[in-house]
Amino acid sequence: MTESHDADVAIVGYGPTGVIAALTLAKYGVSAVALERDEDIYPRARAVTVNDWTMRIFQDLGVDERIEKKIDPQRALRWVTYDGTEIMRVEHPPSTLGRRPRFYNIYQPTMEVELRAAARDHGDRVAVHYGAEVTGVDQDADGVTVAWTHTATGERRTVRARYAIGADGGSSTVRGQVGCRLLGDTGDVTWVVIDCRVKRWWPDRDFLTFWSDKERPVVDIALSAGNHRWEIPLKPDESPADYPTSAEVWPLLKALGVTEKDVEIHQHAFYKHHTRMADTWRRGRVFLAGDAAHLMPPWAGAGMQTGMRDAHDLGWKLARVIKGELPESWLDTYEAERRPNAAFYTALATQLGRVIKQELSEEEQAAMNAVPEDTVTPFEPPLTAPPVLAGGWIRGPLGDASIVGRMIPQPIAGDAIGRMARLDDLLGDGFVLLGDDVDPATLLTAEEKADWDALGARYVAVRPKTAYTQGPGELIDLDEVLLPWLRRYGARAVALRPDRFVAAADISGLAVPA
Ligand SMILES: Cc1cc2nc3c(=O)[nH]c(=O)nc-3n(C[C@H](O)[C@H](O)[C@H](O)COP(=O)(O)OP(=O)(O)OC[C@H]3O[C@@H](n4cnc5c(N)ncnc54)[C@H](O)[C@@H]3O)c2cc1C
Repeated sequence: MTESHDADVAIVGYGPTGVIAALTLAKYGVSAVALERDEDIYPRARAVTVNDWTMRIFQDLGVDERIEKKIDPQRALRWVTYDGTEIMRVEHPPSTLGRRPRFYNIYQPTMEVELRAAARDHGDRVAVHYGAEVTGVDQDADGVTVAWTHTATGERRTVRARYAIGADGGSSTVRGQVGCRLLGDTGDVTWVVIDCRVKRWWPDRDFLTFWSDKERPVVDIALSAGNHRWEIPLKPDESPADYPTSAEVWPLLKALGVTEKDVEIHQHAFYKHHTRMADTWRRGRVFLAGDAAHLMPPWAGAGMQTGMRDAHDLGWKLARVIKGELPESWLDTYEAERRPNAAFYTALATQLGRVIKQELSEEEQAAMNAVPEDTVTPFEPPLTAPPVLAGGWIRGPLGDASIVGRMIPQPIAGDAIGRMARLDDLLGDGFVLLGDDVDPATLLTAEEKADWDALGARYVAVRPKTAYTQGPGELIDLDEVLLPWLRRYGARAVALRPDRFVAAADISGLAVPA
């Protein structure tokens, strides 16, 4: 931060995206000031699930253990018709990213409480103003001036930062201020989302069940912290005005066999589904992230997670650029990496929505139900496709046969001083080159090594579990995952980014990507 800036980065909106941005910037050593319009966390339960990729980000930020205490493992997904016919089931395969289950059920407000509490531990680097409604964003060659109004007193103030992140949700003020347009559509159907407190367990409550029906498809999901959710579409002749209180909502649940003995209705809200994306996610020093950049239907359970991944990706890059370790041009890789991923999840959510609404033709349904060889379920390929990068700060060809752009698995490894821990906990925070039973530095030219050294890279030889370590920069592949993984793609060495994606491999050149 310079004298003329209040913080390195101004974060507008302190929902899940904004908090992950703050945690990431703080972890990587730069300061942030967050401006949040509301005094309290948004009380409506929205996101219902997170997966092992998101949990790996939480691990990087040191919050996974406290979050894991507040969320539940997800058993499986099933698509069932009202007559009890199971159309499809997705049993989650084991996680390769270092978690016990692959998917978790969450309760978004509880998770946000934990994330904000974790950010308070970085009090010296993260300042948060609540009741601060941002009304203006101006930028010049040196920084961004964010104007805000204190909602309680009407007092007007400004914050000056080197960069700004618009994490202010679907109706983003920042997006409008910097002239980005939100393209796409909003669905016609209004859904009522009913959140309940559980009063007793019932059989198969732990499935995420999609009751498939043309007229009234229903989402039925266990949330964490003793909550359960049903999402039900209103019929064309119904409106939110027909459901002012839980008394009017109860018949919808009773039609599904749910009674007052099972749950107590806690709150209900109405939503329409958006399929929208901002035309650009960057204007100069201002970036959009999370719902401000993209809105997707909820069927893939990915909206919030996509925002958190945006914030993490942008956060570690911004921190390095601000500290002068990377050129400003790196910031362009944010949208190049995150936009295709958001588009992937938007398309997946749209397709899953067609299943629940029984909109698939017989041919499409047959294709989706066909179990490909060597996969566990029909949905394993699309659900497990990410995390992969489709472009951005990487070197080499992308594709099914390429290791570049993939996230490295996270098994348990051993190190030269006898620790046994998850890979990321042993690798540390920065760039790491990993070699298959070889010191990766020996595979670099002097110039290539100097470039990696300038980024603070570590060089680690991964030895088989039958080996002795010979020096400090070595890991033992205790779970026998890392070496087979490298060999499957024909790589002797890979360069890992701080977010554990492979940036380069010896096959296509281990030099620092341009
Ligand atoms: C029914 C439903 C189910 C969902 N299920 C899932 C799921 O299972 N998994 C999943 O990943 N996602 C899910 N989502 C999506 C998820 O809830 C959102 O994607 C997520 O909350 C977006 O986070 P965000 O931080 O980008 O935006 P928000 O959560 O909207 O936060 C934006 C913040 O900015 C603040 N703000 C707005 N304007 C201003 C301003 N001018 N000045 C200052 N502050 C401002 C707001 O007060 C708010 O706190 C679901 C959504 C819905 C509606």
